[in-house]
Amino acid sequence: MRALYPGSFDPLTLGHLDLIERGVRLFDGVTVAVLQNPGKQPCFPLERRLAQIRAATAHLQRVEVASFDGLTVTFAQRCGADVILRGLRALSDFEYELQIAHTNHSLAPRLETLFLATAVGYSFLSSSVVKEVARFGGDVSHMVPRGVAQDLQRLFNRASASTPHDV
Ligand code: ADP
Repeated sequence: MRALYPGSFDPLTLGHLDLIERGVRLFDGVTVAVLQNPGKQPCFPLERRLAQIRAATAHLQRVEVASFDGLTVTFAQRCGADVILRGLRALSDFEYELQIAHTNHSLAPRLETLFLATAVGYSFLSSSVVKEVARFGGDVSHMVPRGVAQDLQRLFNRASASTPHDV
């Protein structure tokens, strides 16, 4: 069975990576797919997010990295996935995730959504928390893969260098 793990991954965190690693143990293959969402202005362009995921999953076999736009179920069918994999961190994720799962099930009844509970040590992690910490110069090395930490540092150093301080 093949699983599709869709998300924004802006950027990939160690919580996401943990889910991918556990997905690989459960399925014959995992496709990690970055959603190109025209409604969201990402921090990292699509190509950078794909490169971050490819680098962080290079040690894993049976992982494919792709991008898609449009409906998740359409892409799942196109890449031959039987299951959509999603993570649950807390009760706050539940309502949103359940709504998406029900919607997807109504569109493609043979496609199941499977939730994995987040690893306890990563349950506080989200892409937005990571960006917030990095923006203010905090250490994110225990939150994201090494390449992502470097990208965040570059991004926010550049942003603060271009902020006028002396006006
Ligand atoms: P989306 O915008 O689709 O929610 P995200 O990149 O934020 O995309 O998340 C993708 C999936 O990964 C979601 O199912 C989310 O619940 C899950 N996820 C996010 N952070 C973690 C984490 N720390 N541990 C496990 N799963 C997570």
